[in-house]
Order: sequence, then C-alpha cells, then structure tokens
Amino acid sequence: MSVGSALVIGGGIAGIQAALDLADRGIKVYLVEKSPSIGGRMAQLDKTFPTMDCSICILAPKMNECARHPNIELLTWSEVLSVEGEAGNFTVRILKKPRYVREDLCTGCGICTEKCPKKVPSEFEMGLGMRKAIYMPFPQAVPRVSVIDEENCLYFQKGVCRVCEKFCPAGAIDFEQKPQEIELKVGAIIVATGLVQADPSIESEYGYGRYKNVIASLELERLLSASGPTGGELKRPSDGKHPKRIGFIQCVASRSLKENGYPYCSSVCCMYATKEAMIIMEHDPEAEIYIFYIDLRAFGKGFQEFVNRAKERGVHYIRAKPSKVIEDPETKDLIIRYEDINDKKVKEVRLDLVVLCAALVPTPENKKLAEILGIEVDEYGFFKPLHPLYAPVDSTRPGIFICGYCQGPKDIPESVAQASGAAARAAEIIAKKVVAG
Ligand SMILES: Cc1cc2nc3c(=O)[nH]c(=O)nc-3n(C[C@H](O)[C@H](O)[C@H](O)COP(=O)(O)OP(=O)(O)OC[C@H]3O[C@@H](n4cnc5c(N)ncnc54)[C@H](O)[C@@H]3O)c2cc1C
Repeated sequence: MSVGSALVIGGGIAGIQAALDLADRGIKVYLVEKSPSIGGRMAQLDKTFPTMDCSICILAPKMNECARHPNIELLTWSEVLSVEGEAGNFTVRILKKPRYVREDLCTGCGICTEKCPKKVPSEFEMGLGMRKAIYMPFPQAVPRVSVIDEENCLYFQKGVCRVCEKFCPAGAIDFEQKPQEIELKVGAIIVATGLVQADPSIESEYGYGRYKNVIASLELERLLSASGPTGGELKRPSDGKHPKRIGFIQCVASRSLKENGYPYCSSVCCMYATKEAMIIMEHDPEAEIYIFYIDLRAFGKGFQEFVNRAKERGVHYIRAKPSKVIEDPETKDLIIRYEDINDKKVKEVRLDLVVLCAALVPTPENKKLAEILGIEVDEYGFFKPLHPLYAPVDSTRPGIFICGYCQGPKDIPESVAQASGAAARAAEIIAKKVVAG
C-alpha cells in the first residue's frame, strides 16, 4: 500500500535514485521521462570515474528496479503540461506522446526494428551509428517497448509501408494511438532534468563540424563502448583507422568569458578526460595521449590518485589552451598549436584524433519547465536552490525539489547524494500531509 504520492521529472541517475528512495518508503512515484527510455547520460557512458565500473552494468539494475517496483509508475515519452496547487497537494497534467506501439503487448523482441526499411542517425549513438524509424533507443532500454519516430516513418510521411505491423508477432503496433493527457495528484515534486553538451563548434578554431577527426567527448564515450557503433573499437571517423595519437582539449566554451561561452566550470571534464585516456590505453597500451588543460580539477575523493595513475601510465598533461587545430588536407591528421604555459614556447603536435571536452549545460527546456512549475532558474538555466548552503535541494517553491546536474554541475556520486536528499525532503512534505489528513 502506498502512503501519499510524488512526481519525479527526469529519469537519469538522479531521478532514478530519488524515485527508488521514495518508493522504498512506501510512497507512490510517477517518474516522467521525456525520451522513450529512462537512463539519462549515464546509459551512454562506457566506464565511470574514479572506480572504472562499466556504466550500464551498474545502472541497468537500478533502471530495472524502477520498472519492477510496485510503487513506481514509469511515464516515458511524456512531459509535464501544468502544475497547480501547493506543497502537499499538487495537481499535475502530463502529456503522454503516442509510441504507436502498445506497451501492454510489446515484448521488445526487436523484429519490427529488423524489418523496418528506414534508417536514420541514432540520438543515443550521438549520430555515429544508425537506428530505424521504429526502434529501441539502446539494448538495455527501460521500458523494453519500441517507439515509432513519426518524422521518419514511411507510413506517417508517405502513407506506405506498415511492415512493422505485418511482422509484429505480438500485434502491438497501433498507428491510431493518440496523445494522452493524464491528471495526477501528488504531494511533492522532484526535478532532475540533467545536462546536455554545448555545441563544440562554439569555439570554431578547433574545427568541430569541419574536420571529421575532431569529435566531442560524448561521441568518444560511444566509440569506446562495447555496445557502441564500432563495438568498442576506437576508429577515427575519416578513414576508420585506429588512432594512435589522441589529444583532448579541455574547457571548450566553458570557463569562457566570451559572449557565446559559459563562464562556469562544468566540473566533471578533467576527470572524465582522464578516464577516457585510461580506457584508450587499456585498449592500446601504446597509444599516446595529450590532455591540454588550463587548471586540473581533481578535487574529489580518490580523484588526484586517479590522475596520478594516468600520469604513471604515460598520459601527457600539457598546461595550455590551444589556439588552433589545423587539418592536414591529405591525411586528415590534426595539428594542435599551443603555447606551453610552463616554458612559454609556442609548439605544435600532430595527432590522429582530437576530442573536445565542451561545456555541459542544463537542458534548454528548463526555462519553460520552470515557468510551468513556478520555480526560478539562474542565468544559465540551472534551477535555483532556495539557499545555496542550507537548502541546496529545495527549489524556490515549497514542495518542489531539485537534484542532479539540473541544479548545478556535478558528477554521478554527487547527483545520487542530492537525489537521496531531495527524496528525504519530499517525503517530509508527504508525511506531514498524510498525518494531517
Ligand atoms: C562525456 C561525459 C562523461 C562523463 N563521465 C562521468 C564519469 O565517468 N563519472 C561521473 O561520476 N560522471 C560522469 N559524467 C557526468 C554525469 O553524466 C552526470 O553527473 C550525470 O549524468 C547527472 O545525472 P542527472 O540524472 O542529473 O542527469 P542526466 O543523466 O542528464 O539525466 C536527465 C534525464 O532527464 C530527462 N529530461 C530532461 N528534461 C526533461 C523534461 N523536461 N521532462 C522529462 N524528462 C526530462 C533526460 O532525457 C534525461 O533522461 C560524464 C559526463 C559527460 C558529458
């Protein structure tokens, strides 16, 4: 039996943890996720610093626990339309978008995807791999229910095909599905909408989008992942060759005072670049890796030791903000030009692949969501805490709490800790309401 109810918005690790904590206390949780599956960024990562755990291996059990928990109702492919009321007594309207696949019938067998003739770049693979118009976003997706992407489906666009319907053994395809509005009564709300990576081409001198072998760090995570588009074999995009000399450029558009940059530190890039460097060296001990950094931020427990290990294994840390990346038009190799801050000399290094660690920013839709929720965001779109020191997970409206990256830059352990904090605060409000009746 459940004792009161709560809404969690965002199904990344922070939202998942908050939902599980509340549900384990006997509170009914509605977990709203805008994409077809829960999991968030952590599902895209290969391994996680500083423990080097396989990311999806430690995340998937939590995702499945959410799906199986008797107190959690997953509302994926859904968004919040409106919120009215007050702490202890909110009325929320949710829009559930049509999947065109019946959740009660789909077994996740994947035959529909196999037969679908239309291929498009996969968002989960950061455009480096393809998916079909009917698809499961990734193999461990929760719920295990396919979704039809209307904009690319031949039936929706041209009125022909319906191959998925013909082959689905469960009879789960339903082209007549309509958007559904759901009204919920909840005592408290937790917001955990996470992050996106800023466009690395903001710093156009590094050639992202112009030079094939200049990639973003989230793209590298997919290239390193065994379930990624290359099966975990690092191949450079221009010719599929295995890159031997790889450079990371830190603080791309972050810690930047330029008009289109972000002045704050994204907090996780020094550490994930170190992690990605170590993974590359696990794949190929002879790889030569250069990390170009302004200041090295290894402030967490075990972080400095992690960096020390990378240095011992031969990762080169170069204190410089490169001025330019130049492509060799014949080989598509890249030349990084930089001033080494230590000896004040301008130098060049020739590389096979360059990885840009671009600013991590709150999801752009946060501003609209803040209006719907009646809470405040700061100038970058992070949700404002009621007090940065004493009420870090309380939003500016009673009964609504914030956690994870949408509250401010942070890594997974901090997101999890904040999520548990937000769940405890939400449970207090719900308990008061239940006692008061
Ligand atoms: C390249 C890279 C490597 C990293 N490596 C590590 C690492 O090794 N170790 C580590 O500790 N950290 C790492 N991080 C940081 C880590 O990804 C974040 O700390 C973590 O993902 C934050 O979790 P979250 O739940 O707050 O956000 P997210 O993981 O971003 O999840 C947010 C979820 O909310 C959903 N959502 C967004 N808006 C809405 C809305 N309006 N309605 C409904 N749902 C919505 C999103 O679809 C998403 O599923 C890395 C980050 C990057 C970019």
